[in-house]
Amino acid sequence: MKKIVVVGSINMDLVTNVEAFPRPGETIHSLGVGYQPGGKGANQAVAAARSGASVQMVGAVGTDSFAQTLIDNLAGSGVDTAGILRKEGHSGLAIITVDRSGENHIVLAGGSNKAFAFGEIEGRIAWDEAHAVLLQNEIDRETTAAVMREAKRRGVPVWFNPAPAVKPEPSLLPLIHTCILNETEIEVITGAKVSGAEDAERAAGRLLEAGVTQVVVTLGDKGCVRAGRDGESVHVPAFKVRAVDTTAAGDTFIGAMAAASSEGKPVMEALRFAAAASALAVTRHGAQASIPSRDEVERLLSGSIRK
Ligand code: ADP
Repeated sequence: MKKIVVVGSINMDLVTNVEAFPRPGETIHSLGVGYQPGGKGANQAVAAARSGASVQMVGAVGTDSFAQTLIDNLAGSGVDTAGILRKEGHSGLAIITVDRSGENHIVLAGGSNKAFAFGEIEGRIAWDEAHAVLLQNEIDRETTAAVMREAKRRGVPVWFNPAPAVKPEPSLLPLIHTCILNETEIEVITGAKVSGAEDAERAAGRLLEAGVTQVVVTLGDKGCVRAGRDGESVHVPAFKVRAVDTTAAGDTFIGAMAAASSEGKPVMEALRFAAAASALAVTRHGAQASIPSRDEVERLLSGSIRK
């Protein structure tokens, strides 16, 4: 089985719960604190590995006390971590404050995620064994663009999740095999208003025209739409579940779909697998903690568990 190579962010999420947000200059007491490994790159790597794929994570942690924890956490989910650099300075941090109503404030400190260039990781990527290379928007933009160009040159499909949403250079779009994004992201990228499956399919068409081979727009509890240059468009409904926390739903979907595809599953099957994995993820709290195992996904698909 070929590998899924994720080149992306690795963060520690520092989550603190408060009754109400402090005003500028105010000091308040927290109700609780959590340290949760995160980052879109790492989340997608964990999702692909728990889905049964062979996964290589390429990126960077810092020289702070979180660095080893972040690496151990990935390794603990079965991700190959040999491609992770250590850069002087702090690891990627997300400082998250959540109030009683569930509203949050997030400060992202990219740290080592933003501190590596393509030349430093090029030799670490398992190009010859790669089924696909997965990229997001949480590392340096130039590094991402260089990975896309080299992957294209080597014939390795690029899977791109443009999150957080930034309009990509038009010249990069033809380098992308599979673009997976949510409604907000496709709105930013295409400029089209997207609400629901029909709009999503229309906006996806713009990305296909611009050179992307396959587009998957995730629509929360409305499922997802897939459109391709092969002319096949499908709407895959979401599994009906009781959602308690949608954090990392998109990351779970992407990792699971990539994993299914690396096993040679046809696209419809890969989409259903991803829909099942992400449905399970929203029934649980947390980011990586909510990502299900392959066994759980298969049980949902076979109808032997109901959530
Ligand atoms: P993001 O987390 O990037 O905003 P979405 O909210 O579109 O992504 O969710 C990604 C996928 O997770 C959806 O395509 C769907 O399969 C699944 N999902 C999200 N919310 C729900 C829900 N309430 N019930 C079932 N599945 C869901």
